[in-house]
Amino acid sequence: MLEARGVSKRYGAGWRRRGHLALDGVDLTLGTGEALGVIGQSGSGKSTLARLMMGLEAPSAGDIYWNGQALSDFSSAQWKAFRRAAQIVFQDPAAAFNPRFTLNAAFTAPLRNLCGLNAHAARAKAEGLMAEVGLSPAFLDRYPHALSGGQLQRVAIARALAPDPDILLLDESVSALDVSVQAQVLKLIARLRAERNLTLLFVSHDLAV
Ligand code: ADP
Ligand code: MG
Repeated sequence: MLEARGVSKRYGAGWRRRGHLALDGVDLTLGTGEALGVIGQSGSGKSTLARLMMGLEAPSAGDIYWNGQALSDFSSAQWKAFRRAAQIVFQDPAAAFNPRFTLNAAFTAPLRNLCGLNAHAARAKAEGLMAEVGLSPAFLDRYPHALSGGQLQRVAIARALAPDPDILLLDESVSALDVSVQAQVLKLIARLRAERNLTLLFVSHDLAV
């Protein structure tokens, strides 16, 4: 479903500057329904690889392929389809939500822009997604600061599921959580993966996770 071929990324290169090679010739294949773990110490280039795989940055060499099609050759319609099909959950749930808006508002953008739902249908879908990650729909009327880190990360996962993605990228998504909460969220991810037949790219610096 998603493939990296000979992908390199150099940061800070310019006139008479070679820059810093963050990734060097990475080949990686993520088959439909597979879960692939990317493990390495801090600074080893995991997030860089993840951003390239999701098309958020362009590689310096090599290319990423989605169902055999190079991201660098994408039309705007293909970008739109890929943006819906591939969703990301980052490490810090507090940074993923605008503190000035309720959680319901946080769901509005993906559900209206990516799925074309009106406000009423978006609310109904958001409530269903909250239930799917084990949270009360009433939480939608709260602001992000009124939830614990583990609860907010569940909301981040629910929001990533809103456009019914095929691929979920989890970049250190449980690293900021307490060990017991970590275990609950990992269980949730495993359940969602099975129920929705998700393809997972799971990034962590922690081999145990
Ligand atoms: P990891 O996620 O494994 O901790 P990163 O992919 O974040 O690693 O970083 C890999 C290397 O690339 C690090 O040396 C980091 O400082 C560097 N790097 C990451 N992003 C940038 C950037 N936008 N500009 C310059 N250097 C970067
Ligand atoms: Mg990282």
